[in-house]
Amino acid sequence: MKKLLCALLAGMLLAGAAGTVLAEEELDISDLVLEEIPMGDLLWDFPVALEDMNPEYIILANKHYLLSKDYVPADLVKVPKDPKKGGILWAGSSQDGKLTGWYLREECANALCELNAAIRAEGGYRDLYLKSGYRSYSKQNTMYKNRLKKNNGKDDGWVSMAGASDHQTGLGCDVVPKNWKDRGMNDKMMKEPECQWMAEHCHEFGFIIRYPADKKEITEINTEPWHMRYVGKPVAAYIKENGLCLEEFTQQLQAAIEDYLARGGDPARVEAFIQKPTDE
Ligand SMILES: [Zn+2]
Repeated sequence: MKKLLCALLAGMLLAGAAGTVLAEEELDISDLVLEEIPMGDLLWDFPVALEDMNPEYIILANKHYLLSKDYVPADLVKVPKDPKKGGILWAGSSQDGKLTGWYLREECANALCELNAAIRAEGGYRDLYLKSGYRSYSKQNTMYKNRLKKNNGKDDGWVSMAGASDHQTGLGCDVVPKNWKDRGMNDKMMKEPECQWMAEHCHEFGFIIRYPADKKEITEINTEPWHMRYVGKPVAAYIKENGLCLEEFTQQLQAAIEDYLARGGDPARVEAFIQKPTDE
């Protein structure tokens, strides 16, 4: 928006509409036009600016957009588990290859700790527990097979197949209130004030609720009030404001990219954002 205003202002100045003001302030219009307004920005017609999105944080993982076996996020860190030192309590434990405990990508882990500090500071809520973080392809594969075995070989939509799990991105985390930490999770958790707080405020920390109740048909995953996904603040705010799920956001973004390229936008600026279904 700022850049668009710059463009309009520059246009007015060039047209001589504010000629005298210009002379008084000795503004150099040529610098303003050439340096402040890259052509790509004028062609990018989407509510979230390219520089406000990190392509790695908006990666979509589901059964139509499978992550490869080798996809391991670069900056996984162990999530600190002492809330008094700015961490978040853990529920359960995980052994995933060489990793013991809950890991998330660094920026996501920091955001989760900030979220936990915020709900604690508010008072009146029970402690939140991190119940699951990063899971590798092979860990997910084992979980999926175990689930199928338990369920007579049928996929009941509770455990994603390998490559389709949001947890493999290192940006998906299951966060539950205290009295659910040792219980099987189900959508009744939605009634918990902690989950309602998360749904209302998680975008302020860059998260979205990844599997909302009203998007079940699109995500093809049961309602999960506990599963938050880090996408970065500008994208989270946009998704929240427009009531989208990540699948819908991805669809909009990919259409915006196509439109941008069709109008002569710079392919190098959008290359990293392009995602294609793996089952087509
Ligand atoms: Zn989850």
